[in-house]
Amino acid sequence: MSNKEIARKFNLLGKVMELHDENPFKIRSYTSAYASLRKVSSPLIEMSEDELSEIKGVGKAIVGKIIELRDTGNMSTLQRYIDMTPAGILEMLLIRGFGPKKVKTMWNQLNITTPGELLLACQENRLVELKGFGMKTQKALEQQLEFYFASRGQVHYAYVIDDANSLLTLLQDRFPQELTELTGEIRRMMPIVNAIEILTTAQEEEMEAYIMELAEETLDSLSYHGFAVEITQVEEEYFGMEQFEKSASKEFLAAADIEYEAYDEEESIFVEWDLAYVEPEYRESAKAYDQSKSGTLPNLITNEDMLGAVHNHSTYSDGLHTLKEMSDYTRDNGFQYLVMSDHSKAAFYADGLKEDQVEAQWTEIDQINASYEDGFRVYKGIEADILNDGSMDYGDDFLSQFEVVVASIHSQLNMDMEKANRRLIKAIENPHTHILGHMTGRLLLSRAGYPIDHELIIDACAANGMIIELNANPQRLDMDWTMIPRALDKGVMISINPDAHVRESIHYMQYGVNVARKAGLTKEQCLNSKNASDFAKWVASLS
Ligand SMILES: [Zn+2]
Ligand SMILES: [Zn+2]
Repeated sequence: MSNKEIARKFNLLGKVMELHDENPFKIRSYTSAYASLRKVSSPLIEMSEDELSEIKGVGKAIVGKIIELRDTGNMSTLQRYIDMTPAGILEMLLIRGFGPKKVKTMWNQLNITTPGELLLACQENRLVELKGFGMKTQKALEQQLEFYFASRGQVHYAYVIDDANSLLTLLQDRFPQELTELTGEIRRMMPIVNAIEILTTAQEEEMEAYIMELAEETLDSLSYHGFAVEITQVEEEYFGMEQFEKSASKEFLAAADIEYEAYDEEESIFVEWDLAYVEPEYRESAKAYDQSKSGTLPNLITNEDMLGAVHNHSTYSDGLHTLKEMSDYTRDNGFQYLVMSDHSKAAFYADGLKEDQVEAQWTEIDQINASYEDGFRVYKGIEADILNDGSMDYGDDFLSQFEVVVASIHSQLNMDMEKANRRLIKAIENPHTHILGHMTGRLLLSRAGYPIDHELIIDACAANGMIIELNANPQRLDMDWTMIPRALDKGVMISINPDAHVRESIHYMQYGVNVARKAGLTKEQCLNSKNASDFAKWVASLS
């Protein structure tokens, strides 16, 4: 065990003790032990008790712990605190910029226990009003967390795509005579990406050297802005073939069963084998291959098909922008309608709306709608909490007055599958609910979400005319895209919802569109692809 490793254990001990409100003097002694131990030049592990005691800032208790480490490889005091602390909290303590004070506040006041939950809390503005935080800290934390996810080796597509594209441009400019494209998971628009994969005809060593040069610091492994980079070099006449092989699921490739031959362009493979071109993100299943062969590929949904934004928050609950700012922004960005759905009264952590606040919001919505002369419309929706027993937190009479009701679970997420199914189905069967919000509560790379029987839930939605949300927050992407085909088979419509807590987040919809394309969603099967008048008809049909 190196001196640095030993020192780090004392640092961690100081931090976890602070987290658990221990004696500040003890905490300080461990923190200063960290500072002095890491500077010692001879190996601590070989020093005698007397020699250890002579180190400045190292008292008896610390010497004892170093001896314990030497003899057992363990520090029992530290272990005890580790056992008392959720794993995700410990993880957060180790992220740069996260002191125990901050982590403790988030844990105690917001009940956040993983980095992913914290990232969501930043996106949903929960930190703005927290003592010692504020807008600036929230922004900084959000960035550190995105970087943290990247450094862990896996990252959400949304956080890497811009850097992947900018790296691609740099490489194409630097190697103008060569073919260079993105490939692999990014090209397939997978929700989680392991590396920026590059396919090129350029010399691999030269490209690597150039990427190293871009970094302006020595890298342990090939990366760009913290994201791992993988380069595959290929001969020009095989470029198309290699791109084809790297841009599809195993299932699709097995169904296609195309021999590895020289194709410089991917399109030529489709032409030669008499197949309709399949977008890389849709090359997921044997079915996709069959459709390509029989000329029955679906017209995959596009960003241009997103005509309205459903499921959004304003300052009435936990959004950052006012109702007017939300609606103006959505309208200015070319959408035809906005469904507001602030949190309902049970969501106390998110300033959920009591009945009288809802009525005030309705009055304001009427005023805003009257002020628009182009037909843009704000709808009176709510994100109603599904309570522990599956009932909703407003009475039936009140709930029935909303134009659109998104029903979501936000509390008591620890459930077994049977309980979760029962809770959801009761909400689905409620005649006043219309859209099932973030079906499992999962956070990609962070929280598994409660277990559900997807087929059972989808069938219940089909039986009750319930629409299922594809929550487009890149951390959620919930329901999972692999479940969408089942919904489509059963005739259940999907709504690609931004769940925006900041007006700019309505653009999250693009990440929902990406994964919906993987699943073969068309605009006919998507609620918010309806134009203004069809959407109005749908709303009218609900009451
Ligand atoms: Zn929600
Ligand atoms: Zn929401």
